Amino acid sequence: MIDFRNVSIVLVNTSHPGNIGAAARAMKNMGLSQLTLVQPMNFPSAVAVGRAVSALDILESARVVDSLQEAVTDCGLVIGASARSRRIPWPMLSPELCASKVVNEQKLNKVALVFGREDSGLNNEELQLCHFQVQIPADEVYSSLNLAAAVMVICYELRKAQLALDGADQRAEDEFWDQAKATGEQVERFYEHLERVMVEIDFHDPDNPRQLMQRMRRLFSRIRLDVMEMNILRGILTHIEYNLKERKDRVRVTQQDKLKMKDDSSDGAKPIKEVR
Ligand code: SAH
Repeated sequence: MIDFRNVSIVLVNTSHPGNIGAAARAMKNMGLSQLTLVQPMNFPSAVAVGRAVSALDILESARVVDSLQEAVTDCGLVIGASARSRRIPWPMLSPELCASKVVNEQKLNKVALVFGREDSGLNNEELQLCHFQVQIPADEVYSSLNLAAAVMVICYELRKAQLALDGADQRAEDEFWDQAKATGEQVERFYEHLERVMVEIDFHDPDNPRQLMQRMRRLFSRIRLDVMEMNILRGILTHIEYNLKERKDRVRVTQQDKLKMKDDSSDGAKPIKEVR
């Protein structure tokens, strides 16, 4: 049996419980078991149970959380499924590439595959929590699949990729990587730190942020830092903060010294008149 224990399917704000049940069934058909529901509108539900049929165990062990951030906090690879292209395009994968990435990386990293709401999909902030976007190349006349059908297509590609790998004994580059990728939580802490330092050095104006943080997020999503690289960057930021503080302290001490010298030398004498 294929083991996709490290791969979770995340459904965001699903409104129809039938879709949750059908998604659970699709997952079980394809050998996946980890389901996370972000603020489902109606769950638990008899309708979901009815549509899950023999995948009831997946519904029963589903994790229900309050935010997508919480859902992906321990993940090193997060991929969002979306039918739409965005104004600032996010790194895009085909379902096949998505599957080969997931299959290669799931040994070392927890992976989340994120699906949006039936009516409006994933919003931009949610997509920005993803390293990649995956798009099923459906017909442009009507490219938006039913949620559970989209889950099925992506899970089927995963299974095909895993079967191919098992059969051909392929060895991917990622398998040889010596470090785990940074998790969602570590990356979030890094972005907060980066933003704080950029504000401190007057590079970033939080009152006029433009798209700086969004672009920083996209840059680091593309690179996908490992834990070691993340620690180095955090260390650099900490040193910048430390040096800024040292410099400020030094300036303050020098100013205090100057004031003191002035006080000592004037010794109560009247200030010298300005000579023109
Ligand atoms: N009207 C929504 C589509 C929602 S369909 C929109 O404009 O985004 C529900 C979810 O199924 C989507 O959020 C996405 O995760 C998935 N999905 C549907 N069609 C897809 C496609 N062609 N490619 C990738 N994901 C798709």
